[in-house]
Amino acid sequence: MTADSPLVDRARLAELLELERRAFSERNPRSRAMFDQSKKTLLHGVPMSWMSSWPGGYPVFVASAKDASITDMDGHTYVDFCLGDTGAFAGHSPGPTAKAVQAQFARGATTMLPTEDAAWVGAELARRFGLPVWQFSLTATDANRWALRLARWLTGRAKVLVFNGCYHGTVDEAVIRLDEAGRPVPGPGNVGSAIDPTDTTEVIEFNDIQALKRALRPRTIACVLTEPVLTNAAGIIPPRTGYHDALRELAADTGTCLIIDETQTFPAGPGGYTGSHGLRPDFLTIGKAIAGGVPLGAFGMRHEVADAIAGAKLDMGDTGAFGGTLAGNPLSLAAARATLGEVLTDDAHRRMNALASRLADGMQDIIAARGLPWHVVQLGARLEYRYSPHPPRNATESARSEDRQLDSFLHLYLLNHGILITPFHNMALMSPATTEADIDHHTQVFAAAIDQLLSRS
Ligand code: PMP
Repeated sequence: MTADSPLVDRARLAELLELERRAFSERNPRSRAMFDQSKKTLLHGVPMSWMSSWPGGYPVFVASAKDASITDMDGHTYVDFCLGDTGAFAGHSPGPTAKAVQAQFARGATTMLPTEDAAWVGAELARRFGLPVWQFSLTATDANRWALRLARWLTGRAKVLVFNGCYHGTVDEAVIRLDEAGRPVPGPGNVGSAIDPTDTTEVIEFNDIQALKRALRPRTIACVLTEPVLTNAAGIIPPRTGYHDALRELAADTGTCLIIDETQTFPAGPGGYTGSHGLRPDFLTIGKAIAGGVPLGAFGMRHEVADAIAGAKLDMGDTGAFGGTLAGNPLSLAAARATLGEVLTDDAHRRMNALASRLADGMQDIIAARGLPWHVVQLGARLEYRYSPHPPRNATESARSEDRQLDSFLHLYLLNHGILITPFHNMALMSPATTEADIDHHTQVFAAAIDQLLSRS
């Protein structure tokens, strides 16, 4: 679906996009050559197929990444607001993390035994997110999978409830959506799944308390799995006032577990949205940024849940249901301790929030001065713009303001002018290393892109 933005002339947009594609191709011959070479041995020419989803037709190949910038193989340096789609929220190779990783690697990377960093990280996650007991995985996807298993086991129920537009990693149960008629159907990413997600999962729109009541009252749902603010429905969808209270209350009344996935919303504050808004989930899952770019996922749980698991003597060892030889390894935990203790500190969050506000204000001024019916949503250190006057209330509304061609032009214009934003979103993320000069550079280039778009030739 394409947003109805009457000020944007589609022919002009197509012409500008073509110009930017040509400029990209001229600027990046080495990346092009690397892409052609990689295609011989890598599917889609990239190590993970989604890395080919950049707007120039091929990705720039990275020579180095440090703090808030990336240098590519053609020698261009970018201000990085993508930050590995949150994986590098701490900045690229932040000093304390780099030091801790080097030191730990020299002392042993993976041992099948705990180190003292594990307890430190558990305690720090408890302080930030309010859940007392933790386990570690390598990815947020696995943290979600394990939380789902535990919720099913605890409740003795099979079904999961998710919200339309959700993404929780490659968790089979969550690859589901509502079609135009509001019926649940497998999501577009449901490739080769052994099960039909409509058998395992119910899906409703976010922010609809009546739909939530209808779904939970039969008491057949093991858990609700949700982000506290939806970030994967191509834009940020904030909860309506009172929605989280209703969700918490309905889940408790119906004996349903509540799993909050903070993987993308961690930039909302030191304890993510959960910490800054006092949410009280039964499980909390996270990954990506917590170890400064070294793989680590985690899930936290309430004491009652931990006691139930301990009491039942569940098989969680060796070949049990919660595997991962490298999960909880000393290297990841040393990286997490340094990242949480010295890089993504409470102070750093305050500074990043202020930078994100500076960026949001600049963009809002540009949008307002040109009379564009667009909005910007800020979530702590993260922000996103969208081609509608107000934030959507659910994924169906969000889809109405989708405009892939406009996204491609803006992303590519920014890229050709030294700025990287996340390809699947119009998302910009601050890191502790981001500077006011970086923000002002973006504001100036964003204004120039829009002025090109609105000029008639
Ligand atoms: N949860 C959410 C909300 C996500 O957006 C993602 C990935 N973007 C994940 C979980 C999975 O993270 P990973 O791919 O690192 O396992």
